[in-house]
Formats: sequence, structure tokens, C-alpha cells
Amino acid sequence: MKKIIENFISEIDKKNSHEPEFMQAVKEIAETVLPYIVSKDIYHGKNILMRMVEPERVLMFRVNWVDDNGEIQVNRGYRVQMNSAIGPYKGGLRFHPTVNLSILKFLALEQVFKNSLTTLPMGAGKGGSDFDPKGKSDGEVMRFCQSFMTELYRYIGPNTDVPAGDIGVGGREIGYMFGQYKKLKKEFTGVLTGKGLSWGGSLIRPEATGYGTVYFAENMLNHVSNSIKGKTVVISGSGNVAQYAAEKCIQLSAKVISMSDSSGTIYDSEGIDTEKLNFIMDLKNVNRGRIHEYVKKYPKAVFFKNKTPWEIKCDIALPCATQNELNEDDAKILIKNGCICVSEGANMPCEPNAIKIFKHNKILYAPGKASNAGGVAVSGLEMAQNSLRYSWSREEVDSKLKEIMKDIHNSCLIHGQEKDYVNYEKGANIAGFIKVADAMLAQGVV
Ligand code: GLU
Repeated sequence: MKKIIENFISEIDKKNSHEPEFMQAVKEIAETVLPYIVSKDIYHGKNILMRMVEPERVLMFRVNWVDDNGEIQVNRGYRVQMNSAIGPYKGGLRFHPTVNLSILKFLALEQVFKNSLTTLPMGAGKGGSDFDPKGKSDGEVMRFCQSFMTELYRYIGPNTDVPAGDIGVGGREIGYMFGQYKKLKKEFTGVLTGKGLSWGGSLIRPEATGYGTVYFAENMLNHVSNSIKGKTVVISGSGNVAQYAAEKCIQLSAKVISMSDSSGTIYDSEGIDTEKLNFIMDLKNVNRGRIHEYVKKYPKAVFFKNKTPWEIKCDIALPCATQNELNEDDAKILIKNGCICVSEGANMPCEPNAIKIFKHNKILYAPGKASNAGGVAVSGLEMAQNSLRYSWSREEVDSKLKEIMKDIHNSCLIHGQEKDYVNYEKGANIAGFIKVADAMLAQGVV
């Protein structure tokens, strides 16, 4: 088996060795899915995983825009249309200076498995730009978004490809892109998700990724007769996912003691309550400020410059910032400090060696493609509401989200149950693989 996996990786590596994040995602999937393929005759001789890791199409384009000083700026835009076997391409757009093809291909590949796990009919894609919204005026962000959409609109549509937000793309950016799409196409359709409520958005969409991550943690804990109630939680990040993960933890009576951003980490031993979380939400969403402002407002808290939260003693860790933000040493400290559960809110935040430590110590560990699937799941519900020209209540969407997270947990149990623990990574990869692979086989070699 080891040889089969090595041969596969080296074949993929020939064309993609310059894309480390993409290769990291491929390896992680191959290690659990290839043994499954070997055990099932129907997948033999079909090169099915080889076909799955190759994007159906990659679009790359120039984005010109004029900044507030009248200078012409040039960015690069992308859309990776990864897999359309079970539905239109679906996945977020990321605006961040680190964006490149490797990162978008890893995200698009994760999205194939994640979207399949949601049980909704969504293919997978990912896109974005190396544009940095940080420090830009509203007008600059609008002009960039309009220019980006002036190219992207040709390749997307409600039955073709439905982008959404990701890092650096929230309600504001979705609004500007939607406006431009509508103007160019002369039609009002559900071409993007994460829209505003009065123009086709879904209730609970902003909350969905964070809430879902916590629902998944609660499912894992319940499975071992435990619960989140009364637990101490550290969360990395302070953007959309982290904020609503914190909100759900507080609602479920857990104590959140840490959040962070790229400048450092705040530690509040008394716990971040609803009032304090509202301060962070205003700071980040309205004032677009930095997390250290928190300690000015709440002086009992401390700020650790350039630090992540993983050294702080906790029961539960929720990495909700970005890829590869938690390494082997961090994992060792978490275990030493008694952490029992890690539920990924971000995509691939734990490095492979950190995951090994979690598995070796048999703690509850959920990969993002399972635990953060709530965001895209509610995007799927937004698409359904747009098609129906109807909108469901908060309670309806939240209960569907809870149900979907429970279903994903069950799928992980079915395929990930080992002798004395659940390998959620294996379970998520195999369950996600089956639906897409079967659809691809049924549709022939196309
Ligand atoms: N960017 C989010 C993710 O990583 C959401 C994608 C979507 O809603 O389409 O799943």
C-alpha cells in the first residue's frame, strides 16, 4: 500500500512540485482514499483520484483598478473550477496578498470533499486575488471588486459556478461584485452566496461556518459522552469564522479565553462574554482595527505580540484563522496542557505533523472539510432559497445547519471508526470521495 501511495504522489508531484500547499492537500487525501480505492473493485482501473486532483479548468486574469491617488494598480485574479460532477462549481473567493495558484488549488480540492459531505448538490471551485483589502478605502475596494467581476462574470452563473466569500471577502465585497455582475448580465440571479438579506441572502449565512465548527465539536464530544458546556476554549483568528465560533461557544456555556489576528493574541482569563465579543465584532467589522485594541478596553486581559493562542491552557482548540497556523510543537503543547478536542474552522490550519500528534494521542480531531462545512452548506441553502424565490426563517436555517453537521459527523463515523477511536480525517475523506467518484463514473470519461 505504501508503494501505491508513493507512486501516486510522485506522479502528481511531477506536474505540481512547485505548489506545496496543493501537494500537502493531495497527500493527506491520498493516504486515506487510496487504500479505500484498492479495497473496492468498482474503482479499479479508472484513475479516479488522478482525475479528481486535476482541476477541470483554471482561469487566471489581470485586474486593473485606479487607487485613491489616481495610480493604476495591477492585481491577478483567479478561479479554479475543480469539479462539477455533483453540481455547479461552488466555493469562496479569497482576497489576500498570499493568494497564489497553489493555495487556491489546495482550497478547491478540499472543497470537492467538503461540498460532497454537506449532502447538497454542489461541485467545487475556489478563486480570488492577491489584492489586499486591508488599509484600502471603501472606494478602492469597490473599484477593485468591479474590475474583478468585469472579467469573472463570463465564467460564472447560477447553474455554472457560484462563488462566495472567504478570507478578505465578506458582505461588502460580495455586494460590490453582485452589483457589477447584475449590471453586466442584465439579470438578477443567485450567482453569489453570502448576499445581503434584502437582496437574496440567507439568514444564518454569516454565522454558519463558526456555528457549524462548534456544532461539529459538540457532536464529537457527545459521541464520547462529553459536551462543550463548561469547557475552556481558545480560538485563533477574529474574522467571520472566529467571531461566530466564539458566539456559539458562549451560547453553549463554554468559556472562550483567547482570540487573535495576524499581529498577535489576546488572553482574557475571565472569559470573553457577549459584550466583549460585540466589542471585537465592531472593532473588526466596522472599524477594521487590530486585536490589541481589546486590552485597552479590557485592561485585565493581556496581549501577546506575534503569538498564536496554542500555548494557553485549554480543553478545546478551534483554529479559525488560516492554513498551516498550528504546527507540531503547538500540538504537543496543546496535548501537554490537557486539550481534548480540536475542531478546524479554517481550511487546513493544522500541519500534517500536528495532526499526527493529535491522532497518536487519540484526542478528538476534526479536519476543516468536515467541521467547517457549515458555511458552504448554508450557501447551498441560500441557492435553494434563491431558486424557490423564498426565504426560510432563522430557526429553519439553523435547524437544517445542525442536521447537516450531524449528518457529516455520522458519515465520518461510518468510514472513520478505528478499533478504539474515530479517525475523522479518514472518515471525511472517504465519505466525501464516494459521492463524487460515483457521479464521475456514471458520467463517463469527460
Ligand atoms: N469559503 C468558504 C469555505 O471555505 C465558503 C464557501 C461557500 O460558501 O461557497 O467553504
